[in-house]
This record gives sequence, structure tokens and C-alpha cells, in this order.
Amino acid sequence: MNQEPDGLRQLVLEVLGLTLLAAAAITIAAFNVFGEMTAEAQRALLFSLSALGLCTIPILAFVAWRMSGLARQNRQLFSRATQDGLTQILNKTAFRTGVEAEIMRGPRRIEDSRPYTLLIIDADHFKKINDRLGHATGDVALVAIARMLKRSVRKDDIVGRIGGEEFAILLKGAGLEEARLVAERLRASIECLSVGPKGRAAQLSVSMGGLTFVGAPPYEALYRTADANLYRAKKNGRNRVDITSAVRTARPLGHQKGATAALARTIG
Ligand code: GH3
Ligand code: MG
Ligand code: MG
Repeated sequence: MNQEPDGLRQLVLEVLGLTLLAAAAITIAAFNVFGEMTAEAQRALLFSLSALGLCTIPILAFVAWRMSGLARQNRQLFSRATQDGLTQILNKTAFRTGVEAEIMRGPRRIEDSRPYTLLIIDADHFKKINDRLGHATGDVALVAIARMLKRSVRKDDIVGRIGGEEFAILLKGAGLEEARLVAERLRASIECLSVGPKGRAAQLSVSMGGLTFVGAPPYEALYRTADANLYRAKKNGRNRVDITSAVRTARPLGHQKGATAALARTIG
């Protein structure tokens, strides 16, 4: 989005450059056609150059207006392609793309990298909520969960809806202990939410599986382990958090490429 003013500036410069070229061409043509520049020829040349200069102003204004319209459309298309229509957080593809881009951006040496935690969050007994209160109320619950997740983590953490009643978060810089604290806080906040009419309201809850890691292991491997932990949280009674770590701190992890492969094996 910061590129828009740059694009506009470049366009203005291009139009001005073209105008100068046209002015030079008109002047050369005038000298060739009139030969000797009489006072009348000079007036004609001055008039032509002024007309050219004046025409440039509305052309520039029109182009700027069209460009800002196109930029707006571009933003709308981008957000439609990356946002989940119901909850307005990232959709599954955009979440994965965001996570992969983030972890690939990390430092070259794995010893320098900070940890990440991938959380997979699944609403508990959601089918029952739909069955009892209707699909529309189920949708309200999903929006409420998404909002709570989004506003309870840091601005630069990545939050997405990756399935029907399944969400995911990439906590940046969160080691195992911090991730457990954050996840527990999220779980407790969602436990306070309820949907449906008074007297028949259903209390919401989620189960979470997570994985703390460093480097850039393949997304599938991260997801598989976090999802296995989610499965364990469900099996152990739901409304709980189960996070494990793929980070081994006992010995140095060595060069990132080898270490990343080792991590992928550990969590795969
Ligand atoms: P568990 O605690 O084991 O996760 O049970 P669950 O009922 O949440 O899981 P299950 O996979 O059996 O059912 C998921 C339900 O989520 C069924 C499906 O209708 C509902 N669901 C998925 N997407 C949406 C949606 O966009 N809106 C609504 N209202 N419901 C949805
Ligand atoms: Mg569920
Ligand atoms: Mg599910």
C-alpha cells in the first residue's frame, strides 16, 4: 500500500517527461517549418507550448483519479482473496502463506532465531451448538471466537480461520512457557463467551494444540504435530491446552539447514 504514492509520483514524472519531449519536438518542428522565427512564428510557438502545458494539468488529474480508483479495487480484491468472509480474519491459504513467509524470513543461523508457536484452536462440541441454536447462531459464535482470538494476541501475530470451526495462530517470539500462558489466557477468555437467547444460551469453549519451534520446518510437519496435540486435548476432556516443543536447548542446533531438517524429522 505504501507503493501507491510512489506509483503516482512515477506516473507524474513520466507524464511531465513526455510533455517536455513533446515540447522539444514542437519547437524543433517550428524551426524547421518556419525557418526564420518571425514575431508571428514565435507567438504561434509560444501558444502551442502553453496549450500543451495547460492540457497536461487535467490529464494528470484524470490519471491520478483513475489510479486511486484502481488502487482501491486492488485492495478490495486482495482482502477478498485473503480474508475469511464470515470472520474477517485470514483464510486458510493466506494463513499458511503468512506463516511460511514469516518463518522463512528468520535469521540465517538457527542459534540466532527466536522461537515461534503454532496454535491450532478448535471449538468444542460445535455441532451441538448448531443443532440446538441453529446455524446462524453458530456463525455468531465463530465470529465471537475469531474476534476474541484476534484482539487477545499481539498485532503482528498471525491469526486465521483454517476450517469450519478451526482457527490457528502463529505466536511470534513465543517459547513454550510464554505460549502456554497465552494459550491458557485465550482459552479462559473464550470460556467466558456465550451465544443464543437468554435462558437457552450456550457457553463456548475451545481446545488447543500447539507446537513451539525454531527455524523453518515444513508447514505440513508443524501442522501435523500441533493437530496431534489438539487431538490429545480433545481426548483428555476438551476446553484445554496441549502444547509441546520441538526446540532442543541441551546442545547447539548447528547450521540452520541441517537443524531445520532435524527439526522437521523430530516433529514429523
Ligand atoms: P469437537 O469438540 O470434537 O470438535 O466436536 P465438534 O462438534 O466441534 O466437531 P465436529 O467436527 O463433529 O463438527 C463441527 C461442526 O462445525 C459441524 C459443522 O456443521 C460446524 N461448522 C463448520 N463450519 C461452520 C460454519 O461456517 N458455520 C456454522 N454455524 N457451523 C459450522
Ligand atoms: Mg470442534
Ligand atoms: Mg474441527
